[in-house]
Amino acid sequence: MNNQQIMGLGQQYLMPTYNRLPIALVKGEGAYVYDADGNKYLDFVAGVAVNALGHCYPAVVQAVREQAEKLLHCSNLYWIEPQVKLAQMLVENSCFDKAFFCNSGAEANEAAIKLSRKYAKKNGFAQRYQILSMRNSFHGRTLATLTATGQDKCHAGFDPLPEGFAYAPFNDLAAVTAAVNDKTAAILLEPIQGEGGVLPAERQFLQGLRQLCDEKNILLIFDEVQVGCGRTGSLFAYQQFGVEPDAITLAKALAGGLAIGALLVKEKANVFVPGEHASTFGGNALATAAGCAAIGAMLEKDIPGQAKKTGAYFQKRLQELCDRFDSLQQVRGMGLLLGVCCDKPAAAVVAKCVEKGLLINCTAGTVLRFVPPLIIGEAEVDQCIDILEAALTECGF
Ligand SMILES: *Cc1c(COP(=O)(O)O)cnc(C)c1O
Repeated sequence: MNNQQIMGLGQQYLMPTYNRLPIALVKGEGAYVYDADGNKYLDFVAGVAVNALGHCYPAVVQAVREQAEKLLHCSNLYWIEPQVKLAQMLVENSCFDKAFFCNSGAEANEAAIKLSRKYAKKNGFAQRYQILSMRNSFHGRTLATLTATGQDKCHAGFDPLPEGFAYAPFNDLAAVTAAVNDKTAAILLEPIQGEGGVLPAERQFLQGLRQLCDEKNILLIFDEVQVGCGRTGSLFAYQQFGVEPDAITLAKALAGGLAIGALLVKEKANVFVPGEHASTFGGNALATAAGCAAIGAMLEKDIPGQAKKTGAYFQKRLQELCDRFDSLQQVRGMGLLLGVCCDKPAAAVVAKCVEKGLLINCTAGTVLRFVPPLIIGEAEVDQCIDILEAALTECGF
């Protein structure tokens, strides 16, 4: 089938939940993908920060192939070797003590929300159930995570929303402190707001939250679904800020392209007992075997270090564009999660880049977002900048 045929079938049979570009991707290798008509693209979306090792990373493909021939799924009624190995790898390379596996970012955040309520009850705070999250945040699309998401546009049309959520402005310690009350069980936030427009937290803000949570015995939880697994230049984003949260959630890049989610907790937040939380497919043998291969490669090859280095070069090149184009206002982000703020809607630039063989993404309407595979080098950055420059010119930026 060609692009047109696939798109036609999709329009006929799929619910129209996405604004899709008019191409169907059928093959990927490293930082490049190919559509059904044979066109090649430099992929700076990487499955929305999922394909951190690029497409079809050999060690991940091999792990999937080998695991698929042995055991795909057996349920959590039994122990699963790749699941325990992935847990060990994550724990030994972080400040956390225990892992719970699920299948997506939203599911990981759901687990964190339940955990927060359980933690409060277990510590004698029967009246605490509220999750305090940030304005402009993104935590997922299930009812609870949608409610934790601090954006009215995501809530519209879905009330009544579940109870137990409150919001405060990001990077405003005084306001967050004022928003904490006797119902607050946890503070949940992204160390860099991704969907909200690539907005990094200030170091002092996160350090202040840590102190606040310690004083009140409230859990501090980082949603590292997008920023975790090497993207910011360290295996986990919290490591960049000199702050240890009590728990983090992971998903996107954790299994090199397979569906997975995880909640990592410190011992003090290790509060679930058998029967309180579960997921049929969570931590299944196939996904966790891929996870072991992906995280193993990241550690062995210092992929986060590479992301930091290439990210600094990319940021410099984006800044050059920013200095030259009137409509580009600011470059921000960390490692290889970078955004360029524009003074007008940027969707046209994304479409123009696709025509020219580059996949990028626009978030929050006016922010061009770059989440390439972490394995890219300066040559791919230069190629991206050349195409982007031409697209910006043609779009009148
Ligand atoms: C993508 C994302 C989610 C949701 O993950 P899903 O796997 O789509 O459920 C949650 N939080 C953040 C920060 C994300 O970027």
